[in-house]
Amino acid sequence: MHNKINISEIFYSIQGESSYAGFPCVFIRLSGCNLRCTYCDADYTWQDGETEYIDTVIDTIEHYPCDLIEVTGGEPLFQENCLELLSRLILRKKTVLLESNGSFSIENVPLEVIVILDVKCPDSGSKDSLHPDNVRLIKDRIDKIPNSCELKFVLSSRTDYLYAKDFIHKNTLINTLPILFSPVQKGLAADTLADWIMEDGLNVRLQLQLHTILWPGISRGV
Ligand code: SF4
Repeated sequence: MHNKINISEIFYSIQGESSYAGFPCVFIRLSGCNLRCTYCDADYTWQDGETEYIDTVIDTIEHYPCDLIEVTGGEPLFQENCLELLSRLILRKKTVLLESNGSFSIENVPLEVIVILDVKCPDSGSKDSLHPDNVRLIKDRIDKIPNSCELKFVLSSRTDYLYAKDFIHKNTLINTLPILFSPVQKGLAADTLADWIMEDGLNVRLQLQLHTILWPGISRGV
């Protein structure tokens, strides 16, 4: 089978987010996204990139001295062949992270893949985009393989914070999987978010984008 996939960029960097933050990581950034978030820092992925054979993509990532691979976007699941790419990476014995905006069902994502799912908050402009099955599917996945899912909330305001807090309580997700609260760069001060989390004693992880600290002002390829 020689399927193709549309690629925005492939690069080697330090993982900036998730429980894997700090590790060297190869990023496969796919083109295309079905959402238009207000704070998007990857809007260049909305345009088509280069269409490549999945075989070629696999050959490319094998040149890097690293077995941690993140498939991101845009929205990776926007392209049907993303599922084949994920399976092929697993077959190559890679540790595979999938960062998704949550709007597509994760049902057919291989169980070996670690899914980092965004839940969009009101100020993103994409609230209510979460696929209706995904909370149940997350719970099923972590029942089968603990730590196979992480939830991420990108927060712009107190409204977003309260929304995220309510979401994780309402869906009884606290203490079941890693939950990441990330402030929008230049939108919400990280120390303000830290205060709110501590005041509430909320068992979530405050996440700063490590790559933006390491390489300030560089928006692509890091
Ligand atoms: S889902 Fe991600 S890539 Fe798509 S518009 Fe939102 S922030 Fe940008």
